[in-house]
Amino acid sequence: MKKHNFNPGPAILPASVLQEASQAVIDYQGKGLSILEISHRGSEFTAIIEEAVTLTKELLGLNDDYHVLFTTGGASTQFYMMAMNLLNAGELASYTDTGTWANKAIKEAKPFGEIKVVASSKDKNYNYIPKDWAPAAGSRFMHLTSNNTIFGTQIQEWPDLNIPIVCDMSSDIFSRPIPADKFGLIYAGAQKNLGPSGVTMVIIRKDMVRTDLTHYLPTMIDYKTYIAENSLYNTPPVFPIYVSMLTLRWVKSNDGLKGMQAINEKKANLLYNEIDSNPVFKGTVATEDRSLMNVCFVCEDATLEAEFEADAKKAGCVNFKGHRSVGGFRASLYNAMPLESVQVLVDTMHDFTKRKG
Ligand code: PMP
Repeated sequence: MKKHNFNPGPAILPASVLQEASQAVIDYQGKGLSILEISHRGSEFTAIIEEAVTLTKELLGLNDDYHVLFTTGGASTQFYMMAMNLLNAGELASYTDTGTWANKAIKEAKPFGEIKVVASSKDKNYNYIPKDWAPAAGSRFMHLTSNNTIFGTQIQEWPDLNIPIVCDMSSDIFSRPIPADKFGLIYAGAQKNLGPSGVTMVIIRKDMVRTDLTHYLPTMIDYKTYIAENSLYNTPPVFPIYVSMLTLRWVKSNDGLKGMQAINEKKANLLYNEIDSNPVFKGTVATEDRSLMNVCFVCEDATLEAEFEADAKKAGCVNFKGHRSVGGFRASLYNAMPLESVQVLVDTMHDFTKRKG
């Protein structure tokens, strides 16, 4: 039986994408070669990466001022690569501290510039999004984490700033429309809403690319390398890029980001409504900042959690345990998660409460 996979990442991918990708592993387009065996410089892969770039721009509404790049090393590598590319020593950048990943972004950027943390929700174990987002005067950019995967909070309203936003969108890219022109740079590990792990998407506006850096950038750490070589300076992660392209096609054929947002809201509302109306469970974050991607909740009586988890497992729901720093449960409802799977989890919660009551 196919499981209902609530994993936070690597995460569920559309069934049709898995089907097509698995066929391509055996024989890509009837060419007698696996997608894993083709050259990254051949016409087949050129077409794949070009389509991935075109679909990304189309779906996110990016004009020709933006480059779409594919890198490796995960979003974790972007924490420092981005800072090394955007800042000279002593230059200022503002950051918001909204959780574990934001913290890592701050830590990794610090050696390369003057990093000012201008807002934080650490006082309440990151259970809300701080709204006092005034960047420090003279900042070159403001760094935001759009969706805090571990704590289950998500930015619902983008601030109006007079400087570019640099955003870690690892866990909600392509899940909803965005006001593209606010962003100077977006980065995201693929393994939640886009594809398998192993590739990272970086979107950079042309005016953010520095030609006046005073320090040396190793070739593979320099965005200009990826821009000049269309992400093909070295051997890229061919298969993850291919699967990402298939997922982008799937997103497009499901009414694009508007379609994703509509279904994501439906799924999240279904689960949050159950959490709010069921006396056994409670949510863990401020209602207005709730994530549509990672729904975090606990049992009012923590001693019931193991028993509920066992019930849900019996119903085929897997990988929804909360992160060790939060506890309880976290159901990740990325784009590819069907409404039916969320309904199974909700029915299990309902039945559990009936049995206990
Ligand atoms: N940022 C966010 C918001 C994440 O959720 C994650 C991974 N869960 C990361 C960064 C780190 O990504 P990676 O594992 O690709 O380095």
